[in-house]
Amino acid sequence: MENRRSYFSNVERKSISPSAIVIGGGFAGIAAAHALRNASFQVVLLESRDRIGGRVSTDYSFGFPVDLGASWLHGVCEDNPLAPLIGRLGLPLYRTSGDNSVLFDHDLESYALFDTDGHQVPQELVQKIGDVFETILRETDKVRRECNDDMSIAQAISIVLERCPELRQEGLSHNVLQWYLCRMEGWFATDADTISLKNWDQEVLLPGGHGLMVRGYRPVINTLAKGLDIRLHHRVTKILRHKKGVEVTVENGKTFVADAAIITVPLGVLKANSIKFEPRLPEWKEEAIRELAIGTENKIALHFDKVFWPNVEFIGVVSSTTYGCSYFLNLHKATGHPVLVYMPAGRLAHDIEKMSDEAAAKFAFLQLKRILPDASEPIQYLVSHWGTDENSLGSYTYDAVGMPRELYEHLRIPVDNLFFAGEATSTKFTGTVHGAFSTGLMAAEECRMRVLERYGDLDMLEPVHPVIMGEETASVSVPLLISRI
Ligand SMILES: Cc1cc2nc3c(=O)[nH]c(=O)nc-3n(C[C@H](O)[C@H](O)[C@H](O)COP(=O)(O)OP(=O)(O)OC[C@H]3O[C@@H](n4cnc5c(N)ncnc54)[C@H](O)[C@@H]3O)c2cc1C
Repeated sequence: MENRRSYFSNVERKSISPSAIVIGGGFAGIAAAHALRNASFQVVLLESRDRIGGRVSTDYSFGFPVDLGASWLHGVCEDNPLAPLIGRLGLPLYRTSGDNSVLFDHDLESYALFDTDGHQVPQELVQKIGDVFETILRETDKVRRECNDDMSIAQAISIVLERCPELRQEGLSHNVLQWYLCRMEGWFATDADTISLKNWDQEVLLPGGHGLMVRGYRPVINTLAKGLDIRLHHRVTKILRHKKGVEVTVENGKTFVADAAIITVPLGVLKANSIKFEPRLPEWKEEAIRELAIGTENKIALHFDKVFWPNVEFIGVVSSTTYGCSYFLNLHKATGHPVLVYMPAGRLAHDIEKMSDEAAAKFAFLQLKRILPDASEPIQYLVSHWGTDENSLGSYTYDAVGMPRELYEHLRIPVDNLFFAGEATSTKFTGTVHGAFSTGLMAAEECRMRVLERYGDLDMLEPVHPVIMGEETASVSVPLLISRI
């Protein structure tokens, strides 16, 4: 049947260039395909969706860009692997905070908190409880040092509050404390009773604070994808590996053949076992897939005809439980467009994903109406479904209780001619765009070396200079365009 086995066959392989199949067209996959293409590999990229970008998803239906997945560059500095590309594209960033702490990716003075009756929480109280929260977290470090076994950050906080009654809060102060915990849950995309005390602060944070991509992430991924052979609507269902190469089968039965494959599908997709590996992956790899954890955070973007909210970056609603707390990112501050983005995480995000889009948007609007009773109805809305979308099955990886961090590396380590990349394989920058990008480049380089060794083509084994946008940019430093209104 025509095109049933495509790309090129084993017989042809010796006479033409080395080849690779990249599975998944998010940042990791596009970066890997880009690097291998520049190293003279024949590369085909198979992507299940009707678009590239994966968990980077810039929507233009409001008439301007809104990111429903990633929107921040975490670490606005030259050491960020994405900085040269973003700098060269001249894309503006809006810095939402300095680099003081993971929990404060928004500076304290840049948000307004309200109680559920619509009264604004005095800023001194917000500041005071922020300091209390930081003290509590410092105290949990003592608990960590005392205990051999891991426990959740929620449990450690309870122990600290038992031991230090002066840190316990009542009434409004308690609710503000819950809000800080809710922000922490948002950062990890999961509830505090699942976050590891041992590892929650072990990821590497690049300096320079957090910068919002004012024009969205799409221009970056589009630039990297230029000229690549990308097959959309190609959902991979089977990966067969043997001594001479790999055979990758997609949903419609078509098979692609190459020397090696780079697998960049999200952890959630690997967990669902919707891709069959033949032979099975080794136990240590299956264990990493089983044990690593992925959380859920969603975005509900509400577009209004005018701005009726305070001129702050974040608007928060405090409550007696983290589940009852909420927050909105004020896109107007960074982009000038009248949009608020509601961002639920963990159980709340799961519960909201069960609703229709209309009900989810209504739910988000109700939270706003509670604190700003004169709020006008949104004219448009967008709702993400990262937890249930079969192409992601989660938003990003987090450090779960009892999960050793070596598992990120286990997920990355190649198996024969299969290479693995994606945010969940990054030991340093898990859960980020720049982490996904770096692992894609790393997997491409390992794949290149392995395949060329087999070809015996030692001349080609010289390390390739990182090439971005078809030009050598590594040595060219272009300053990032950063603003704060
Ligand atoms: C709501 C949200 C907010 C976030 N905010 C930030 C942020 O501000 N800053 C930041 O740095 N990071 C953020 N992240 C995390 C960041 O988006 C991810 O870490 C990163 O984009 C992951 O890239 P990836 O290439 O590893 O995976 P993905 O982007 O998920 O790419 C994997 C690709 O594989 C495809 N695929 C799945 N199954 C198959 C299959 N069977 N066959 C073929 N293809 C398949 C998918 O469609 C997808 O395109 C956020 C994520 C979410 C969801």
